[in-house]
Amino acid sequence: MTEVSTHPTPAQLADATWEEILPRYDALASVELSADDPAGIETWLETWNALDVALVEASQLANVAYSIDTTDPAKEEAYLRFSGQIGPRASEQRVRLASKLLDTGYTRPDLETALRRFRTDQEIHRAENVALEQETQALQAKYSKITGGMTVKWRGEDVPLPRLNPFMQDPDRPTRESAWRLQFAPYIDTKEEIDTILDDQIELRQQIARNAGFENYRDYTFAAKHRYDYTPADCFSFHDAVAETFVRANQRRHARRKELMQLDTLRPWDLTPDPLGRPALKPYSDIEDLNSRAETIFTRVDPVFGTYFATMRKEELLDLESRKGKRPGGFCTSFPYRKRPFIFMNAAGTASDVRTLLHEAGHAFHGFESAANLDLLMQRYYGSEMAEVASMSMELLAAPYLHRKDGGLFEDGDFERGAIEHLEGILAIFAWVATVDAFQQWLYTAPDALDHKARDAKWIEIWSRFDPDTDWEGLEAERLARWHKQLHIFLYPFYYIEYAIAQLGALQVWRNALKDQAKATADYRVALALGGSKPLPELFAAAGARLIFDAEGMAELVELIEGQIATLEA
Ligand SMILES: [Zn+2]
Repeated sequence: MTEVSTHPTPAQLADATWEEILPRYDALASVELSADDPAGIETWLETWNALDVALVEASQLANVAYSIDTTDPAKEEAYLRFSGQIGPRASEQRVRLASKLLDTGYTRPDLETALRRFRTDQEIHRAENVALEQETQALQAKYSKITGGMTVKWRGEDVPLPRLNPFMQDPDRPTRESAWRLQFAPYIDTKEEIDTILDDQIELRQQIARNAGFENYRDYTFAAKHRYDYTPADCFSFHDAVAETFVRANQRRHARRKELMQLDTLRPWDLTPDPLGRPALKPYSDIEDLNSRAETIFTRVDPVFGTYFATMRKEELLDLESRKGKRPGGFCTSFPYRKRPFIFMNAAGTASDVRTLLHEAGHAFHGFESAANLDLLMQRYYGSEMAEVASMSMELLAAPYLHRKDGGLFEDGDFERGAIEHLEGILAIFAWVATVDAFQQWLYTAPDALDHKARDAKWIEIWSRFDPDTDWEGLEAERLARWHKQLHIFLYPFYYIEYAIAQLGALQVWRNALKDQAKATADYRVALALGGSKPLPELFAAAGARLIFDAEGMAELVELIEGQIATLEA
């Protein structure tokens, strides 16, 4: 056998099977560690990290290669080997090494947040839950299979549901209405089946929580998701504050929309199309144009961001345009061995593509800043709240530079329209997050959560609180089907309020930038560079923000957004 390097390259692991990788983790697990020898522990950490960065990069290279070309069987094989076999087993090995580290009692300030996570994971881990987790995953797969395969007949053609999206924005009201109604038809047809999946999920998840010593799955999830800095009670304050602030702002926007559209009532299909009936924005025609203008925009936000984006262009770390054979959607991932991010998208010329690119670039810059500043992968785990502060802030920081006269993408008029759409979307999202979060809290704390009638009634009650003025007359079945369509409830329970927490952070970064852009972007960069090496409130504070669950904090930001919209409308 050839000697195995303790510092492999991603290329050396590209074709490896799990049997070839496991001995590397075994070797790390068998090293003698002692608190009396901190230098020995540091060397061990560095060796563990070297294996993880190479393995993660090899896995992400396979992921990207397959995402770009799903038709190549060799790429598919590599992707499935990493995601299905190697990934979950490597995660188990990391838990094993983390326990070993905890046993030594070793700590240092910039590892405290990582050690705290490891400790929680160890405390809530129960061997008997492994099989239950697998059962929940099977139910998740069942939900994905049913909903992923849904098609509808649209203008004589069988089409998957996402194909209806452009028609829901159509200037013609009857077209919008048909598309909007049709998206729920397959959910209405499978209501029983989806309800039963959730029943089984709730029972399993509550059992998992009780096994781990928690009263219910909500409390278990707060621990499992490492929510150290806010509680269920904070989330209830958040719901009340949203009802007092964002919901009222939405009502004001709806009143204006009704006026512009000359309608007596707003039906659900009237809420998002352009109120003046203009065709969709087309801000660019070719991808090189988008790339070079994006670089100009980032440079204007901060020259350092322009440099990062130039690096991504030069090193081919972008695959943006929609092509046959590519996977749908968009994401930003990282190659930790090279300390580089990668952005994958399916851009087709729309305004939302531009926003997606700004968003993913925020994630990419987070990757650049934290990888340059922190040696260990475990220090760069920042959780979704902070991750989305990075990306949502970039959407807002870049917004002033999107005009063509500044090297951006939008002509006069389109610039204002795009900015208003963005800000209105931000106002609207809070009410929806509060609805989904309040409903999920109820699902795992109410005694009658398995009673389908009670569940549906609760959904309507909660949603009405946060959307008091849309006209739902005669749309009862669609209104109920809406929560069956919210995949987070089934696939990522409780993952939702993070978006709103992050958006409030991003709005504060933006508020600061409107006063002093240089200082605001400098603070933002400091926060990104901290990765996950500090607790969430400290990361927010570094960015010039705080965690907001109160009406006062929200009211300030609502006022700012409405003021900006008024200026854009003038
Ligand atoms: Zn994101």
